[in-house]
Amino acid sequence: MSEFDYDLFVIGGGSGGVRAGRLVAGMGKKVAIAEEFRFGGTCVIRGCVPKKLLVYASQFPEHFEDAAGYGWTVGESSFDWPTLIANKDREIARLEGLYRGGLERAGADIIASRAVLEDRHTVRIVNENRTVTARHILIATGGRPNPHAALPGHEHCITSNEAFHLDTLPKAIVIAGGGYIGVEFANIFHGLGVETTLVYRGKEILGRFDQDLRTMLHKTMEAKGIRILCGTIFKEIVKREDGRLDAHLSDDSTLTVDQVMLAIGRTPNTEGLGLDKAGVQTGKIDEIIVDDYSRTNVDNIYAIGDVTNRVQLTPVAIHEAMCFVQTVFHDNPVSPDHDVIATAVFSQPEIGTVGLTEEEAGEKFDEVEIYRAEFRPMRHTLSGRQERMLMKLVVDAATKKVVGAHILGPDAGEMAQLLGVAVKAGLTKNDFDRTMAIHPTAAEELVTIYQPSYRLKGGARVA
Ligand SMILES: Cc1cc2nc3c(=O)[nH]c(=O)nc-3n(C[C@H](O)[C@H](O)[C@H](O)COP(=O)(O)OP(=O)(O)OC[C@H]3O[C@@H](n4cnc5c(N)ncnc54)[C@H](O)[C@@H]3O)c2cc1C
Repeated sequence: MSEFDYDLFVIGGGSGGVRAGRLVAGMGKKVAIAEEFRFGGTCVIRGCVPKKLLVYASQFPEHFEDAAGYGWTVGESSFDWPTLIANKDREIARLEGLYRGGLERAGADIIASRAVLEDRHTVRIVNENRTVTARHILIATGGRPNPHAALPGHEHCITSNEAFHLDTLPKAIVIAGGGYIGVEFANIFHGLGVETTLVYRGKEILGRFDQDLRTMLHKTMEAKGIRILCGTIFKEIVKREDGRLDAHLSDDSTLTVDQVMLAIGRTPNTEGLGLDKAGVQTGKIDEIIVDDYSRTNVDNIYAIGDVTNRVQLTPVAIHEAMCFVQTVFHDNPVSPDHDVIATAVFSQPEIGTVGLTEEEAGEKFDEVEIYRAEFRPMRHTLSGRQERMLMKLVVDAATKKVVGAHILGPDAGEMAQLLGVAVKAGLTKNDFDRTMAIHPTAAEELVTIYQPSYRLKGGARVA
C-alpha cells in the first residue's frame, strides 16, 4: 500500500488540469482532480469557446448586408440575445459533460470542490472538510479577470465572466483594455448592434502584435463604427439614478452607457491556495514560479497553465500538461516549448499570426526582408465591402528563413495554424516560392509575393 492516498492530485479542472488528470489516470495511476466551478475551465465555460460562438453570432449582420451583391434579398432580420445565450449554454454544458466523462472513463476521482494545500503532500477538500494526501500535486488553477479594485466605481463594471451571461444586450457599452479580449468583445458587441467604445491606455491596441496589423485593424474597426480611444483610461464609474452608468474618462469626457466592461488583464488564481503552507514561491503578480519542467521550488508540486503566467493560451496549458505527464510519470523529462506559437485574435477582421513581428525581427537580425500584400479579398468584390486584407512575411535576409507571418482578414486564424507548421519548421522563403499556389484563394498571396516589398537594416526601413 502506498504511503499516499493518490499518485497525483490535480487542483483545477480546466484545459491543463483535465488533460494531465485524464492522461495519468489512464495509465492506471490513482488520480484525483478538484474543480470548484465547472469542469472545462475558463476556455470551455467562459473563454475561447463561448467567445467564438458569440463571434459567429455577431458576424451575421455583415453576411446579410453582403448577400445583396450576390443577388440575395434577405428579409427583415431580428436578433434575440436570450436565444443565443441559451443555445450557447447548452453547447457549453455538452462540452463540460465530455470533459467530465473523459476523466471518469480514465478512472480519476472527480471532486466538485475547491481544494487548497495544507502542506507539500496534503490537500484540503474545502466543501467536504477533509484532507487527502498525494505524492505529486499539480496546480492548474488558471486565472481570473483583474477587477481593477483601484478604480472608483469598479463594482459597477462587468468582466468577460459576466459578459457571457447578461440578462439583456446593452444598448451602449464601453470596454477598457486593448488586449485581445477587449478587442474581440468590442467587435462582438458592435456586431450585435451595441453602440461600442473601446478605451485603451496605450498608444495602439494589441500591444505585442505586428504594428502594421494593429494600425489596419484599428482603422477597419473604426470604419465599422466602433469608437476607439487610445491614450485614455477610466477615472471613475458612477451609477446614475436611471440605472445607467457614467464612465468618466481621463480626457475629461463622460460616456453614458448601459454596461462598462473591464478587460485589463488577468490575475493568477493563487489567493488562499495555501501556497505558503506548502512553501511554494510566487512572483510579482502572484503567479507560481516554475522551472523549465513546470516544477515549483517544492519538488513534488508542479504548476501549469495560466497560473504560471507564461503564455496564457489553451493549447499552451495543454502542452504544458503533456510535458508534465512525460516528465513525472514516464520518466522522460520534456520541457514545454514556448517558442514560435501561432495565435489568432478573433477580431473582425481576424488576425492570425506566428513568429516575430517586423519590429522584433528588425531588432534581432542585421537585415530583414518584408514581403507584404494588401488587397481587397475576392469575397468583398461583389458585396461592395471596402475592407482590405493584409499579409506579411518577415524574412531574415541572411538565411532567407521566414521568421514571422502575419495576416489580417477573413480566416486569418485558420491560415496561421498552417503557417505555424512552416515557420516552426524553419522553412525558407525559397520553400514558400516553390509551393504551388491554390487559386483562387486569399492565402495564395503567401506563396506568390516574389520580391521584397521593403527591407530593414539595423531595424530601419531602407527601401
Ligand atoms: C474571454 C477569454 C477568451 C479566451 N480566448 C482564448 C482563445 O481564443 N484561444 C486560447 O488559446 N485561449 C483563450 N483564452 C485563454 C484560455 O482560456 C486559458 O489560457 C486557458 O483556459 C488556461 O487553462 P488553465 O488550465 O491554465 O486554467 P483554466 O482553464 O482557467 O482552469 C482553471 C480551473 O481551476 C479552477 N480552480 C481555481 N482554483 C481552484 C481551487 N482552489 N480548487 C479547485 N478548482 C480551482 C477554476 O474554476 C478553473 O475551472 C481566453 C480566455 C478568456 C478569459
